[in-house]
Amino acid sequence: MHEKGHRLVFTQTLTQAPPHNGRPPGDVPDPSAAEPGAIPSRQELAAGIEALKQERNAVVLAHYYQDDSIQDCADFIGDSLELSRKAASTEAEVIVFCGVHFMAETAKILNPGKTVLLPDLEAGCSLADACPADAFADFRRRHPDHIVVSYINCSAAVKAQSDLICTSSNAVHLVQQLPADRPILFAPDQNLGRWVARESGRELTLWPGSCIVHETFSEQALLQLRLEHPEAEVIAHPECQQHLLDLADFIGSTSKLLQRTETSPAPSFIVLTEPGILHQMRRRSPGKTLYEVPGADGCSCNACPYMRLNTLEKLWQCLHTMAPALELDEEIRRQALVPIERMLAMSA
Ligand code: SF4
Repeated sequence: MHEKGHRLVFTQTLTQAPPHNGRPPGDVPDPSAAEPGAIPSRQELAAGIEALKQERNAVVLAHYYQDDSIQDCADFIGDSLELSRKAASTEAEVIVFCGVHFMAETAKILNPGKTVLLPDLEAGCSLADACPADAFADFRRRHPDHIVVSYINCSAAVKAQSDLICTSSNAVHLVQQLPADRPILFAPDQNLGRWVARESGRELTLWPGSCIVHETFSEQALLQLRLEHPEAEVIAHPECQQHLLDLADFIGSTSKLLQRTETSPAPSFIVLTEPGILHQMRRRSPGKTLYEVPGADGCSCNACPYMRLNTLEKLWQCLHTMAPALELDEEIRRQALVPIERMLAMSA
């Protein structure tokens, strides 16, 4: 690809190119048109994305677990709660959600009149997949007197059956506000649920779901890293399993782990969460040392395979073609909006 102003000419046919919605704006050409020349550089793609954002009146929201190159093109980077707030308040006409499907769905639930794009529609989530709406409806029916609290990592159809949505940032705070005489169902992450129960002092009936990224860290490798780096603080996301959380010095949501690396006097950190967050940790605390914990299978890479389906090229492509766009059944959207708005009000 080479650049003419913000015109990008791709030299390779991009895979899975979605169909065009009419003529592209400005002088941005069809990205699937193969031309001989150089491979597009990260800088060229970033410049093209910036130009398209202006033309489309688009905002790019990126989760901390996205690839560094995508984070560097984003207008806002955050965790699920921060991104939900941003999605609710943006004045942009187009929201490009660089994260996974349930996050883009949440943005669409909050903004039905706006176009919400997800660079790769296949970017799902093992946690959301572990909680099908039909089975969840049975679970609710078996506990008719319970308040239903669902972690934001679930489908719109599950949100629509919930009384309250939470994120890992606000779950403890929200659960503590619920009436003490009412039992509570918590779905879909059992590890987060156990931690919320401990922190809030409330008994929770848990859906048995978990995240494939956070349940794979090796305890043996963590113990070895602690031995080698006794000065390091162990910081962990509450989606990790209990036996790993028991070894942590600090437990918190992705944004709280990021803050911790800034505010703690520790010179180094052993990090138990998806490694995409290390990019912002290094930026904000360049003098500190970060250690990743490998998976139990010996693999040193715990990147979320769903999050990493989004690429810089796909981000450019979706802004160019305005596809793929999220569509939601209006009845489900309307029902799912209620517990999300409740969350935003209660966590304000
Ligand atoms: S890291 Fe886990 S919870 Fe987050 S999107 Fe990936 S699979 Fe889902």
